[in-house]
Amino acid sequence: MIGGRGAHSPGSPLNVPPVLASNFVLGSDRAYTRNDATPTWEAFEEVLGGLEHGVAVAFGSGMAAAAAIFDLLPAGADVVLSDDCYQAVVGLAAAGQEQGRWSVTRLAPDDTKEWLGAAVHADLLWLESPSNPLLHVGDLPAILSQPRKSGAIAVIDNTFATPLGQQPLELGADLVLHSATKYLGGHSDLMLGAAVAREDELARRLRERRLLAGAIPGALETYLAVRGMRTLHLRLERATATAHELANRLQRHAAVGTVRYPGLSTHPTHSTARRFMRNYGAMISFDVYGDADRADAICESLQIIRHATSLGSVETTIERRAAIPGQEHLPPTLLRLSVGCENVDDLWSDLDSALVRSSPKERH
Ligand SMILES: *Cc1c(COP(=O)(O)O)cnc(C)c1O
Repeated sequence: MIGGRGAHSPGSPLNVPPVLASNFVLGSDRAYTRNDATPTWEAFEEVLGGLEHGVAVAFGSGMAAAAAIFDLLPAGADVVLSDDCYQAVVGLAAAGQEQGRWSVTRLAPDDTKEWLGAAVHADLLWLESPSNPLLHVGDLPAILSQPRKSGAIAVIDNTFATPLGQQPLELGADLVLHSATKYLGGHSDLMLGAAVAREDELARRLRERRLLAGAIPGALETYLAVRGMRTLHLRLERATATAHELANRLQRHAAVGTVRYPGLSTHPTHSTARRFMRNYGAMISFDVYGDADRADAICESLQIIRHATSLGSVETTIERRAAIPGQEHLPPTLLRLSVGCENVDDLWSDLDSALVRSSPKERH
């Protein structure tokens, strides 16, 4: 298989079709799907592994992949986690800590000195960069080149950046985590995850966890994700350019306070991002003047932009993150915008009208 395509022989389909099979006629190395995978998962793993320069192991969701990684830890492990981090990963780490399986320390993604110190003692370093939703960028080249405790695993959650934005395995990470539900799938129509390992041995252990926990992907999901990844570069090219432009315009808008986008020179970790990221991504977080009700009113009055959670799709979506249970520590008027592939001026006129409608006083 090359690039997740089918056999290059006359009459073969160009793409590996969704193989809906639980079992196979005995006599080859493929007998039962949960143990032996299907050609459709393998196509997805091949494409993602190629993009990340590692060995990809597909899971039923990003969280299934995350749980499999935590399951690799020895009893009493020392876990170090970003403090601005995907909420369910924080929940997973906290649940294991409560059960006495490991202890958790939280560090700011941009506190490089602390991460360098942690590398020496941690069994698991888990860094999400850019972080969710404040979009802090960690100094991955510095942190990942710091020698680690023997057997330690350094994981970068690369969901926001995608393999086209940064290549953590090349920078020294042991594993990359993806929620393929987001940019890789890219069309808001599937849930899927993956862990990508730099070394075969770690991939083998993750496949074993997948088999034992039954955390397998679906045939249709992996098929759709491969189809989505065929246009990842095009979608991202458009979405990142549009995001940069919208971030610039938002920064000048009278109804908007702080704009967080790693591509803005005013962003606290812009200079770090500039050193190693290939693009600044398509996620923007910004504060609007007023209170939570006004921020909600802005989300509700948008016409093109959808008021919805999640991210990474061709459709632009917006969400007030502090409205989510467990996220009350965030600024109440912070809106997180996942920029999609629509026309930039259509998006801007939608945003501008909603901001002006909801905040006439600041405007005049
Ligand atoms: C969505 C997400 C996850 C979890 O992935 P699921 O596919 O929802 O299980 C993990 N990390 C980040 C950064 C995410 O955005």
